[in-house]
Amino acid sequence: MVLGVTGGIASGKSTVVAMLQRLGAQIVSADQLSRELVEPGSSALSALMKRFGEQILHADGTLNRQQLGTIVFADEEARHDLEAILHPAIAELSQQRLRQAAEQVGQDGLVVYEAPLLYEAGAEGRVDKVLSIVVDDQVQLRRLMGRDNSDADVAQQRIDAQMPQGEKARRADYIIDNSAGLEQLQRQVEELYGQLLAGGR
Ligand code: ATP
Repeated sequence: MVLGVTGGIASGKSTVVAMLQRLGAQIVSADQLSRELVEPGSSALSALMKRFGEQILHADGTLNRQQLGTIVFADEEARHDLEAILHPAIAELSQQRLRQAAEQVGQDGLVVYEAPLLYEAGAEGRVDKVLSIVVDDQVQLRRLMGRDNSDADVAQQRIDAQMPQGEKARRADYIIDNSAGLEQLQRQVEELYGQLLAGGR
């Protein structure tokens, strides 16, 4: 069983995935793969430099993700171009890693594919079921501001640039609401994990 985990920014994906990992799931992270793909000397990094210029690099030649994030969050066409460069490469690498993870957990284990842009990237076909994490709008804004130390305008712009949470929830097989505390989240994650291992019933 491969479970895709998605949701809006700061909805709690990493927190949920860490809980699933502690319960025994093998994790493949699309963000992690995208970091690997843009290491200095990679073809993805040169494609990004061609499109966005040297402004997206740190002095040591590594990708300045924050700078790139600022550019694409303010510009839809730039975001589209970034996705066109990265998504096909992530698709290929994720398929390979998901296969390896499935071999490691065996027939009855759970593999988790953490992918913030699962739907946007058309990655549903790589997973058996999708879990979408949702969170109350105000709580989402507050957690995002708290985590990134950003002001409300910047945080809201990041939220608005994404597919609405409701849309992700509508398309998902499972939904976890992470508006309350971590204990409640843990309980919901354990329940889902048990359900998935029992065959998705
Ligand atoms: P991103 O989309 O940016 O990768 P994410 O969806 O992975 O974010 P997390 O990083 O897991 O979200 O959570 C966002 C922030 O909210 C973090 O600072 C995290 O510690 C906090 N957080 C997550 N769940 C809860 C909760 N139930 N109660 C309190 N804080 C929480």
